[in-house]
Amino acid sequence: MPTIFAKIIRGEIPGDIVYQDELVTAFRDIQPQAPTHILIVPNKAIPTVNDVEEEDEATLGRMIVVAKKLADREGIAKDGYRLIMNTNEHGGQEVFHIHMHLLGGRPLGRMLSR
Ligand code: 5GP
Repeated sequence: MPTIFAKIIRGEIPGDIVYQDELVTAFRDIQPQAPTHILIVPNKAIPTVNDVEEEDEATLGRMIVVAKKLADREGIAKDGYRLIMNTNEHGGQEVFHIHMHLLGGRPLGRMLSR
C-alpha cells in the first residue's frame, strides 16, 4: 500500500510542495509545530531508517543539502533550526516512508523533554 507521502510525491493528492527533484520531494507539514515545518522525503519509498541501503547514500545526502537550501530560503539559517528523523515506535514515527522534519522560526527548546 502506498503511503500518504508517496501519493503527495506522485501528485495524486494535494501537498504544499516547496521543492522537488529526481531524488527528493519537500512539502509543508499538515500540522506545523513551528513557523517553518517542512518534510523532506526521498522519492523512493523507504519505510524506516532501518531499511536504508548503501545505494541510498546519494538520496540521504541530498536530503541534507535540500534542508540547507530550504532553511536559507525560509530565512531561518542564521538563527538556527532542527532536523529530525523519527524511527519506529520509540522514535514516534507515524508515517512509514522516511522523512526529515525541518523545524525552525522560533526557539525550539531542549531536544528532548526530561
Ligand atoms: P512522524 O511522526 O512520522 O515523524 O511525522 C509524520 C508527520 O507527517 C507529522 O508531523 C504529520 O503532521 C505529517 N503528516 C501526516 N499526514 C500528512 C499529510 O497528509 N500531509 C502532510 N503534508 N503532512 C502529513
